[in-house]
Amino acid sequence: MKRVIRTCVACGAKREKHELIRFTLDGVPQEDVRKRGQGRGAYVCDNEKCREIGIEKNKLKRSLQSNQLRRNRKTG
Ligand SMILES: [Zn+2]
Repeated sequence: MKRVIRTCVACGAKREKHELIRFTLDGVPQEDVRKRGQGRGAYVCDNEKCREIGIEKNKLKRSLQSNQLRRNRKTG
């Protein structure tokens, strides 16, 4: 089985995707509860601390916005 590894934007830990919570950007970072948010996602560990850091320190937002910028630069 293929392992999909993602990095937590709060603590930098690398974990399997299913161990993390995915956020997508919809104005503000939204937890992608249905796992079908469009576009790029950012991930944090499934715990209070990382979730809090991700949201309150704007780490999720910054990560999601930089993903968008990178994509725009490539296509534009
Ligand atoms: Zn973490």
